Amino acid sequence: MYQNPYASCDFKQHFLRTSFHTHAGTGPNTCGSLPIEEVLGEYQRLDYDAICLSNHNLYTNPAPYQNRFGLCLPRGYEYTVDLTHMVCVGTEKVVLDSQQHAIDSAVVDGGFAILCHPHWKRDWGLPKETIDGLRGFVGMEIYNGSIDCGKILDEAHCNGRCHAPDVYDYLLSGGRLCWCFGNDDFHRWWYLAIAWNMIFADKTETSIIDAVKKGRFYVSTGLLLEYLTLQDNVISLSVRNNEGYRYTYRYRFIGQGGEVLQETVSPAASYHMHGNELYVRVEVSSPSGKMLYTQPVYDDTRLRPTFTL
Ligand SMILES: [Zn+2]
Ligand SMILES: [Zn+2]
Repeated sequence: MYQNPYASCDFKQHFLRTSFHTHAGTGPNTCGSLPIEEVLGEYQRLDYDAICLSNHNLYTNPAPYQNRFGLCLPRGYEYTVDLTHMVCVGTEKVVLDSQQHAIDSAVVDGGFAILCHPHWKRDWGLPKETIDGLRGFVGMEIYNGSIDCGKILDEAHCNGRCHAPDVYDYLLSGGRLCWCFGNDDFHRWWYLAIAWNMIFADKTETSIIDAVKKGRFYVSTGLLLEYLTLQDNVISLSVRNNEGYRYTYRYRFIGQGGEVLQETVSPAASYHMHGNELYVRVEVSSPSGKMLYTQPVYDDTRLRPTFTL
């Protein structure tokens, strides 16, 4: 039976604009050159709702900032070992002895782990074999904001690709259900507000974690999801510009192996499931290059979560 992660979402309600991947502070392992207050102030100015301070192998206690910026600040850090990076959210415990232990520890604490920028430095910098051996992670960054803008600025550490739909389709096609994320991976001002997650949740860490585990969010670089429904085996959705107006967009319905099952250029689009699809996810692009990535509608008899729901 096909499942729609958005089935319980009320699209008339406010979705929380969230980035889980933020380096801020000026001390060791922050990677940052900017004080936390300044960074959070900018995210507040841009109408964000939630930010996770995720420094390298360093838990940054968000409590002192929790009520000062109107932002919910879920706890977390970025597991950082060579090219293997992972944002762990909802935990204060930095675990470095193995990536699997780091995932397990975040989950035991009630949180989750997101595989980061799999194409950083080079294609499959996070190798398939590594991903195949992991269990319990909630998803991966389909879009990491830092790589492309770093490349434009010729920052040597930013080689690779920010966009990793091939890795996501690899996971789903292997029967492993997990969710896609978009994050800034903020380090400097030019990484601000590139990619984010729109989450149907209350503005608390607990509610955000619960919604993420259920896939009640989508990824955006500037578009809003007006609705996504699954009715009588038809997926219907419509997207608006971030400023709220409707326009003509390109909707690509993507299935197993990354195959484009249908492409529609229209203000709204729908796709009729044939019944043999393992999953169908949608990528929407605007004429100016803004993107929106939905979570997959999936066959729950053939796709099993990588994590415990
Ligand atoms: Zn990283
Ligand atoms: Zn990072």
